Amino acid sequence: QPELWSDDFNDFICKCLIKDFELRPNVLDLLQHVFIKQIVGREKTLQKQLIELIDLSQQIGVIEKTRHERIHTKKGSHMKTQCDTDEVDDLATLELLDELQNRYMTDQIYTYVGDILIAVNPFHKMDIYTPQYNQLYLGAKRTANPPHIFAVADVAYQSLVSYNADQCIVISGESGAGKTESAHLLVQQLTVLGKANNRSLQEKILLVNSLVEAFGNACTAINDNSSRFGKYLEMKYTCGGTVVGAQISEYLLEKSRVIHQATGEKNFHIFYYMYAGLADRKKLAHYKLSDSKTPKYLCNEYIKLVPDIVSNSFYKEQFETVEQCFKVIGFSLEELGSVYSTLAAILSSGDIEFSPVATEHQTDKSHITNNCILENVASLLCIRSDELQEALTSHCVVARGETIVRPNTVEKAVEVRDAMGKALYGRLFSWIVNRINSLLQPDGQLGEDEKGYHIGILDIFGFENFKKNSFEQLCINIANEQIQFYFNQHIFAWEQDEYLNEDVDARMIEYEDNRPLLDLFLQKPMGMLSLLDEESRFPQATDQTLVGQFSDFLKDCLQFYEGFTVIYNAGGFLSKNRETLPADIILLLRSSENELIRKLVTHPLTKTGHTNTLKAHQRLCLSFLNDTNKCVQMVFYGRCKALLKVDIGTDTPSHPRETTNMKTQTVASYFRYSLMDLLSKMVAGQPHFVRCIKPNNDRHAQKFDREKVLVQLRYTGLLETAKIRRQGYSHRILFANFIKRYYILAFPAHEEPEATPESCAVILEKAKLENWAMGKTKVFLKYYHVEHLNLMVQQAT
Ligand code: ADP
Ligand code: MG
Repeated sequence: QPELWSDDFNDFICKCLIKDFELRPNVLDLLQHVFIKQIVGREKTLQKQLIELIDLSQQIGVIEKTRHERIHTKKGSHMKTQCDTDEVDDLATLELLDELQNRYMTDQIYTYVGDILIAVNPFHKMDIYTPQYNQLYLGAKRTANPPHIFAVADVAYQSLVSYNADQCIVISGESGAGKTESAHLLVQQLTVLGKANNRSLQEKILLVNSLVEAFGNACTAINDNSSRFGKYLEMKYTCGGTVVGAQISEYLLEKSRVIHQATGEKNFHIFYYMYAGLADRKKLAHYKLSDSKTPKYLCNEYIKLVPDIVSNSFYKEQFETVEQCFKVIGFSLEELGSVYSTLAAILSSGDIEFSPVATEHQTDKSHITNNCILENVASLLCIRSDELQEALTSHCVVARGETIVRPNTVEKAVEVRDAMGKALYGRLFSWIVNRINSLLQPDGQLGEDEKGYHIGILDIFGFENFKKNSFEQLCINIANEQIQFYFNQHIFAWEQDEYLNEDVDARMIEYEDNRPLLDLFLQKPMGMLSLLDEESRFPQATDQTLVGQFSDFLKDCLQFYEGFTVIYNAGGFLSKNRETLPADIILLLRSSENELIRKLVTHPLTKTGHTNTLKAHQRLCLSFLNDTNKCVQMVFYGRCKALLKVDIGTDTPSHPRETTNMKTQTVASYFRYSLMDLLSKMVAGQPHFVRCIKPNNDRHAQKFDREKVLVQLRYTGLLETAKIRRQGYSHRILFANFIKRYYILAFPAHEEPEATPESCAVILEKAKLENWAMGKTKVFLKYYHVEHLNLMVQQAT
């Protein structure tokens, strides 16, 4: 056996290649560390053969990341890393892109960058999610199989079991990149791994996603099944690793979709499913739905006629599936009926029409022109129709202790009607989620004192930049910035922090610190959301005055930001932020004879899992402060990559609005709270990252738009990630552990030396390794060092 990395070794490999193409995997393993051109540069054909061989071996998953660790052998010396020049950095950029492209074109959609999984959306059905694949990735060494989403599930699961710690899998990527699909696949594998005692629990957990998505997803311009809410699914395990339950938290459902959809988009799936399903069962009349006239909330350029919906067999099938999910998870038939009534009431309420009452004295009064619709809605909600009419066309104000009834203008009445529809839908969604949580609680499955552990999967709506962006996009994009911040902290700040603490001289990696941008939005009391809340409290404020406030505030900041632009249209910001459901409506709904309707408006739905939130919240704020300091300290060149321009729209009329009660929580403050709640859950677990990439905008299989992918690699910091994974030290081993494992390589077997940095160095030098670093308490190694050492130990013993 020639000595590793010597000239003899190189020659040995060359000979092997010439002799036999089917190298044994361990020889291929060694090849990972060899810069191909350097060894066989003299021989063009040989080089080509070698590349073919490497490709072949990549297919069988032997070499996963050759090109990210660029190492070459030099005559007379050992390994040298080559990463100091910008040239190499550019090369790395292109190489990552090339690698993704080459792999994608051969249907290898998964690639690792360090411990992060990149998933490029295949846009066609793949046969790599069958039970055989589930089995293949159970407890397997990562290098044993090609990269796969199942492997991420496995790593998270193994960490939960071995360290008894919560885990958190963060899936990110733009809309349509494949986040939700990835989340499903993770749940699939995590259920297999958790080998539930009763099959029915396993079955229920798998159905949760389909159910929640029927209510929370919709067809958008970008994705036919786009999630319009953020979802954090926690799979609960015993410390032994048996799955015992699940819990979902939902964030920021885009309720405005219920009443209005942008061009090319649709309402939430469930409305269409239900319509078609009920029609199929001849039940439309029972729910007061018309079989000829399309409800206004469903009308758009795709759907003009109810028969289009009713004849859609896909919708019908989906309805059956949804109902099946409800039943298997444990909802009662009575509950189901109430859910359908509520949905039908929302649809019908959209058709209630108003017109002005022109009397001599009052021109700002309105009345309902289609009383039969009003009757229908009232009957579905189990309330009195005259009271509903009152609540829609007038409102009460309390002045000097007296209650005065004031009429609503047509405009105001429409606003109240729509607010009711949105509120009912939002509350119905939360109720369903809560009900699922109580049905999937790990009751009695955990022992008395047994604390369970969980693996959380975060699937949040991706970054959005449409032709017209509104308040919803602002919230979605802020949430994405926040997740990016968390990613940066893990990948860059905290890792580099450890180098500082250990006095290890590692080259700091520059990354896009998005902290300033986040502060711009979220800081209190002077962030944009705070400004928005402030304006929302003034009855006289308009969208114009809001934009005035924003511009004043941004005047001083704008010059610092460069990068791509998202233009938000501020029309409607204020009303969307206030989103108050008038007290009259709430009181009326509380009088409903339907238990579900009463529940929806009685107590603010208490979300299970919110216990302890305050504590976690406070801790989080603190850690943020610390992190900010860290950022300032470590990253001197924090730059931001999004320009915020606020633009007032002309197409949304904005009018001064009188409001009786401004004390209600605004959407912005609720949003900020939810974001903190989510983060407190995330930081509690050990993170794993999945980055979804959208290879083209046309949803075509086998089409890799390099520009498009490059932009995504850039703004998610994946290139920097690749760099830090290449330059950084993936293994940090305490001196004592290092000595225990490797002293045999340099010391007599019966003489285990003291755990000092000096003895560690002796071992590393004896092993002829370079480019490691010695910290104060740990040895810092690259992953190939560890593989090399392990191999030597194997040979020595
Ligand atoms: P996101 O949640 O990021 O918006 P989705 O997960 O909904 O995106 O994916 C959008 C579409 O892309 C899916 O409806 C599906 O057609 C396709 N897709 C995504 N991931 C996969 C995959 N692993 N295999 C096959 N098709 C996929
Ligand atoms: Mg999604």
